[in-house]
Amino acid sequence: MDYDENMNDCSNVNSFNKENIMAAEEEEKKLRSEEPEPEEEEEEEEEMDPKHKLIQIIVSTILLIVATVITKLNPNLAMWQKLLIFLVPYFCAGFDVLKEAGESIGHGEVFNEDFLMVVATVGALLIGFVPGGKANFTEAVFVMLFFQVGELFEGIAEGSSHRAISQLLDIRPDTANVERDGKVEVVSPDDVKVGEIVVIKPGEKVPMDGVVLEGKSSLNTVALTGESAPRDVAQGDDILSGCVNESGLLRVKVTKAFGESTASKILELVEHSSARKSKSEKFIAKFARVYTPIVVFAAVAVAFLPPLLSGNFTANFATWLLRALTFLIVSCPCALVVSVPLAFFGGIGASSKCGILVKGSGFMESLSEADTVVFDKTGTLTKGVFEVSAIHPEKMDAKELLHLAAHVERYSTHPIAISLRDAFGNENDGCSVEDVTEISGQGVKATVNGKTVYVGNTKLMDSIGAKWTACEEPGTIIHVAVGSEYAGHIHISDVEKDDAKQAITDLKSIGIRKTVMLTGDREKVAKHVAEDLGLDEYRAELLPADKVDNVEKLLAEKPDGKSLVFVGDGINDAPVLARADVGIAMGALGSDAAIEAADVVLMDDKPSKIAKGIRIARHTLLVARQNIVIAIVVKIAILILAVFGYAPMWLAVFGDTGVLLICILNSARTLSTKV
Ligand code: ADP
Ligand code: MG
Repeated sequence: MDYDENMNDCSNVNSFNKENIMAAEEEEKKLRSEEPEPEEEEEEEEEMDPKHKLIQIIVSTILLIVATVITKLNPNLAMWQKLLIFLVPYFCAGFDVLKEAGESIGHGEVFNEDFLMVVATVGALLIGFVPGGKANFTEAVFVMLFFQVGELFEGIAEGSSHRAISQLLDIRPDTANVERDGKVEVVSPDDVKVGEIVVIKPGEKVPMDGVVLEGKSSLNTVALTGESAPRDVAQGDDILSGCVNESGLLRVKVTKAFGESTASKILELVEHSSARKSKSEKFIAKFARVYTPIVVFAAVAVAFLPPLLSGNFTANFATWLLRALTFLIVSCPCALVVSVPLAFFGGIGASSKCGILVKGSGFMESLSEADTVVFDKTGTLTKGVFEVSAIHPEKMDAKELLHLAAHVERYSTHPIAISLRDAFGNENDGCSVEDVTEISGQGVKATVNGKTVYVGNTKLMDSIGAKWTACEEPGTIIHVAVGSEYAGHIHISDVEKDDAKQAITDLKSIGIRKTVMLTGDREKVAKHVAEDLGLDEYRAELLPADKVDNVEKLLAEKPDGKSLVFVGDGINDAPVLARADVGIAMGALGSDAAIEAADVVLMDDKPSKIAKGIRIARHTLLVARQNIVIAIVVKIAILILAVFGYAPMWLAVFGDTGVLLICILNSARTLSTKV
């Protein structure tokens, strides 16, 4: 019952407490304007890094060659003199690694990759001083250099996937041309208020959501929806921020503040998506935390135990110390730590390219395990654009019945409400509409010109004791009662979305076990739609709470390790969206509550995108798992070779960085997933 009340609260807030909302928006805006700066700095730093790193690597390589030549030309140099010479390229190659290792020890985090590298390289520099040890100066510098090469590639790969995502989401408008006092001013979109009029020239991005007052044009929506066909707009049409105005000049009345507009919402979603970690990423993080200390202790054991047990410590220590150092180098878990999140990042990018916004890699993972897909009907499988096809009044004329219905529905965002208002047309005729209460899944109650009027389904009529008349026509029937007196019904019909049937066929073809439709609509309508689209099951006449119960049951039925996806437009189904393993919301039609409650948002409301999203998710998971296997297998193999003395230090380094490169390149494949 809780959410029922909440939902009602929401709809009331939406319609009546505009001031509060505005105040909240203001506050949010303030917060937002404080936030972005550090983020931007961070990005810049990341982008600068690879160039610096490359220069550092080149200079260190030259210094290493010089040091090698000097020591070769002067074979009589003492060990400490050689050490001093090699320390020059060593510090050049590794000053930042040394600094970071020092800092993290300061923070009490000992076992990270920088620390491993420092121990391994310092060990290699000093091993020549151990009785029986051979100098390994070149190798020590080499290890540091290769580690830096790995970091360089890591930086490049992360930078390029960042850029790829921001490019395909190149929807943040920089300026808005706003009409003020008869003049057009160019301002930041943040400064434009709801209700102001903006002018959008051809070639410009639509700065905020609004409705066209004047002009005709076609909009390029590819950045938002992945759809390349332009959308024609004219007077009266709603337009979304982030689209590009292609041909005509448009005058648009702003309906949403910048922070609340589509473009900002999407950017926010994508920017925060990496914070929601997948199980694989959490596993890797945990793995690294446990694995690194184990390897360090194992390395200590390799260095000390065999020589101690051999009975002649001094003779054998140098050999085993070298093996232990090699062991440490291979053990660096960076290939995993870097490449797995990168794979998810790429997958999220690939799906955004198709207009599918996945809010985090955890949802990517659940989506790949989809087994049951549950749909809402109205607005999800059907267009949610109802046409009034018949009016059957009792005790009043047809016009009066429609008039009452449209007025009661004045503040509702339900597709039914919108169509009743549209059918009536002249909404502002001075009638008073008060005490509006929306009863989720049943209808709306309001006081119109002093009389209490109920508009909704038979459940609502039954609850107030109105004697309703059954209607034989197919389609949705909206009953109206004044007080508890039945006043007649309005027959409306909806059409299926063009790709709804395809969506179900696609889901079947990729192996989804069960498709189910849950609806609050009549049994008759539900049966017709379910059979027509080829859904496995349907349940009709459900209240939002019944939808949750049904989803709970389906959740209990699905096999372990599989997930349940719920797809809805969020009107009356935000609780189910939140309850499912993955909640998918229709972004353009859906309510803001749905977009917030959902884990995945479809920008163009096309149910056929669901199968596409699942395929991208599966590919992403495959790549992430490949990386885990490649990295662990190669590392374990080299670790074993190292212990038995078959892996020289340079092979270990090569193996380590090589695995990192292979994994990074593999991960990059997810960004260009073709479906
Ligand atoms: P669905 O599950 O198909 O998306 P809803 O749960 O949104 O449908 O609504 C279920 C039923 O409740 C509708 O078919 C309609 O009969 C009634 N209803 C809900 N909201 C309204 C409204 N604003 N006006 C009239 N009837 C409504
Ligand atoms: Mg619905």
